[in-house]
Amino acid sequence: MRPITERDIRASFVNCSKGEAKRLDVPKDLADLPWEDLDFLGWRDPGAPERAYLVAERESVLVGIALRATSGASRGFTSRSMCSLCLTTHTSGGVALMTARRTGEAGRQGNSVGQYLCTDLACSLYARGKKKAAGGAAIDESLTPEEKVARTQANLHSFLDNVIG
Ligand SMILES: [Zn+2]
Repeated sequence: MRPITERDIRASFVNCSKGEAKRLDVPKDLADLPWEDLDFLGWRDPGAPERAYLVAERESVLVGIALRATSGASRGFTSRSMCSLCLTTHTSGGVALMTARRTGEAGRQGNSVGQYLCTDLACSLYARGKKKAAGGAAIDESLTPEEKVARTQANLHSFLDNVIG
């Protein structure tokens, strides 16, 4: 994705209040991020561990999504979970159920969309083989990085479509 600024990020949120978008913690190292390797910018709020954010381009428009991570019950060290965007498998704690309030009327009625995502939101790097999941098993070894990136982007866009409706 193209590099974006803190102002771009704050203006992009579609499913939280203007106040939350203004106050939320934006990554400090925006200038140093490997933008060419990112399909979306995702981060956790260091001050509020249950909060996570994702910003991506959808039809050339930046879309920011506020997420709530559910910690859930630990299922033990040996259990594995898979991210629904990049399909990376992680050992316990590497994947979390994250919920996004839907936009518009659906959101006002309390509708949300839940997805299992890498807890560090580094799906773009996992798909490109630039980051390895701790203890994760590589599946789909037959896919090239380009194919994994395309699949991650397709999953990302259907997630955005579900939130925006
Ligand atoms: Zn992922």
